[in-house]
Amino acid sequence: MTPPTSPYAEFLDLSGEIADLGAAQAVLSWDQETYMPPGGQQARGRQMATLSGLIHRKFTSDEMGNLLERLSGPEPPDEIDQCLAVERAMWEYRRAVRVPEELVRETARAQSDSVACWTEARPRNDFRKWLPHLERILDLERRRADCLKDPGQDRYDALLQGYERGATGAEIAAVFDRLRDRVVALVRRIGASDYPVSTSCLDREFDVDRQWDFGLEVLKAMGFDLGKGRQDKSAHPFTTGFHPTDVRLTTRLNARTFATGLFATMHEGGHGLYDQGIRIEDARTPLGGAISLGIHESQSRMWENLVGRSLPFWRGFYSRLQNAFPAELGSVALDVFYRAINRVEPSLIRVEADEVTYSLHIILRFEIERAMLAGELDPAGLPDVWRDKMREYLGLDVPDDKDGCMQDIHWAWGLIGYFPTYTLGNLYSVQFFEQAQSDIPDLDARIEAGELQRLTEWLREKIHRVGLRRLAGELCTDITGRPLEAEPYVRYLETKFGQIYRLA
Ligand code: ZN
Repeated sequence: MTPPTSPYAEFLDLSGEIADLGAAQAVLSWDQETYMPPGGQQARGRQMATLSGLIHRKFTSDEMGNLLERLSGPEPPDEIDQCLAVERAMWEYRRAVRVPEELVRETARAQSDSVACWTEARPRNDFRKWLPHLERILDLERRRADCLKDPGQDRYDALLQGYERGATGAEIAAVFDRLRDRVVALVRRIGASDYPVSTSCLDREFDVDRQWDFGLEVLKAMGFDLGKGRQDKSAHPFTTGFHPTDVRLTTRLNARTFATGLFATMHEGGHGLYDQGIRIEDARTPLGGAISLGIHESQSRMWENLVGRSLPFWRGFYSRLQNAFPAELGSVALDVFYRAINRVEPSLIRVEADEVTYSLHIILRFEIERAMLAGELDPAGLPDVWRDKMREYLGLDVPDDKDGCMQDIHWAWGLIGYFPTYTLGNLYSVQFFEQAQSDIPDLDARIEAGELQRLTEWLREKIHRVGLRRLAGELCTDITGRPLEAEPYVRYLETKFGQIYRLA
């Protein structure tokens, strides 16, 4: 190996090593969720903690600090891409060194205590028992935000940057306010429709092996490369990429809930295509990643909803599905099936929500977490506020905290500022998809013909290959000529579900 000849070459070497350690940690974590025997739990925890410590030390080392100082100041690299790589790393580095190690350790302890308590308290509906942990988490997140924030920056925004760089709570709130009012109105109109949707055609047993095969067929049609990735099973579907040449998806199949499994596969397939689409030459560098959680989620939601729950897709794939399940679906008409997979029904649980009501679950969480972090809402009042908002937005009475404010692990884990990225993903997905439809005038016909890869090519060029060269807001303007907006998404929902429910 020839020794590095410039500060940038040294920086690249060090970044590559850190990326390799991160990938090794991701392999361990993937294995933990898929194949690891239960007995391995404790040892695996230690192995992962050792690797995280190593990564943190390398990334915040004086060596890295000095290189970044030189490259951002007196010795900038020659190329624009190289300057960007330094900027991305410098931004992460500053965030990493601003939080004192003692606070990092205390936060890790608090999170693991909180999750342990939440795991026990949730099934027993014991919000009071978990409350002190939530208060401690919020207090620590406020302290972390104070370390991270730039002068004059809002605490919530400082945390939000960790998931969605460049976004602010105020901008998101402005978009979400418009979205909420229109979606609440749409849900009410759907509830009053004279053409209710029946899901009885899905209410039967679907052999899981055949579900698995059909899911793989769809993944291949999407362009997911099984020579550079694989699919396995796990309790909670997820995607993790070790490198663009090795991307892992998981799905969850159940004979009684056919649709959930297929849409989980397509959702994770969208994430997986993004990870496979990163340029090989960017891998192991600070440019070789996804732009933000919101942009990542735009890819999964596009495949799951805009393609997977669309009529053009099923015009092409329904006969194949009927061939896979002749006894179950052979006599079910396409229209009946299409309406069934698109039924709208307000429900208590976010992860089971349909396309229309999903955003309301997120908006409610965003409003609540922002108010709690700002100290405007006492966490002791969380269950009541939750009930009030669920009634106001979804028209539902929440019977208990288990299926109410304690249903998600996010707050128990200390993830404040994470929830809005799910809905940002939905909003971006529609803005991008409409642009794809305008750039590829026969896109719907291609999808109907089963040629899904035309869309994949477009996504590769416009989004995947960009890597971390742009931030989310910049990417949106580059592609669509507009900033993030509520209107396209609302219009999409009103049109699609207006037809399904025959709304005037
Ligand atoms: Zn996702």
